[in-house]
Amino acid sequence: MAFEGLSERLNKVFSSLRGKGKLSDEDIRKVMREVRMALLEADVNFDVVKKFVKSVRERALGAEVMESLTPSQQVVKIVDEELTKIMGQEAVPLNKSKHIPTIIMMVGLQGAGKTTTAGKLANRLKHEEKARPLFIAGDVYRPAAIEQLKTIGQQLDVPVFDEGTDHDPVDIVRDGLKVAAENKNDYVIIDTAGRLEIDEQLMDELKRIKELAHPDEILFVADSMTGQVAAKVAHGFDEQLDITGVVLTKLDGDTRGGAALSIRDVTGKPIKFIGQGEKLDQLDVFHPDRMANRILG
Ligand code: GDP
Repeated sequence: MAFEGLSERLNKVFSSLRGKGKLSDEDIRKVMREVRMALLEADVNFDVVKKFVKSVRERALGAEVMESLTPSQQVVKIVDEELTKIMGQEAVPLNKSKHIPTIIMMVGLQGAGKTTTAGKLANRLKHEEKARPLFIAGDVYRPAAIEQLKTIGQQLDVPVFDEGTDHDPVDIVRDGLKVAAENKNDYVIIDTAGRLEIDEQLMDELKRIKELAHPDEILFVADSMTGQVAAKVAHGFDEQLDITGVVLTKLDGDTRGGAALSIRDVTGKPIKFIGQGEKLDQLDVFHPDRMANRILG
């Protein structure tokens, strides 16, 4: 289960405070040392942990005694609020263009879940807005990726524009956008190639697609199982492409928390959606407060 280790650790730390009257500064410092360890073990980025622990410690040390809460409840409340803050505070909706089509470009490393998430997004938009999206198959390096997108397109009854694997993805996107204009599609979702790691050639290609398509949304798809590495990679993509949002996938697995808790703070870009399974209806809007509650168990 996601965050299991972290939740258990945090709950154990907080239960050591239960039944205490007023907390001494030493109690708070001790608890925060434990919280710090728990976050580092969950693979949260070091700077994020440092910042988080500092804010909680300062607030807890300076906290007014609130009659309605016991001291331990008060610490838990502060941790809850600061976790929410570090993950972005509020849900952030998808960017939309004033004129159709809204163009969404999916980027990320191979295997992160780009193609699956493209499908999930189209499915959401169809259900929520009766939208008529078009997929553009821009991953020309893996024939299987085009087939995968076509299968998803068939399942959802969403057209897929592709020109096989012999064309420059920028040309494919240009042609695909023409078709979208002719057919008056309200959304265009561009699936792009990924690699096992960031490389210059891939980034150049993505930049060229961006320059041509002027996407309203560049979603970096991050595999939450990769922990804080996901935040580092997201930062790399952001530097090159100025991403507009993040989708965190595989939160149905036993991810430790490092990605969810690091990525917003490291990139400054909002997590917009979370993937919670392989099925096309398993994409949810990301709510930082709900995620904090889930982490606190
Ligand atoms: P891409 O290479 O980035 O396009 O990645 P894919 O969309 O092909 O996804 C890689 C694998 O991850 C596939 O087996 C997907 O079914 C799986 N996957 C994607 N998103 C999720 C998710 O939210 N949860 C789970 N459990 N699997 C996912």
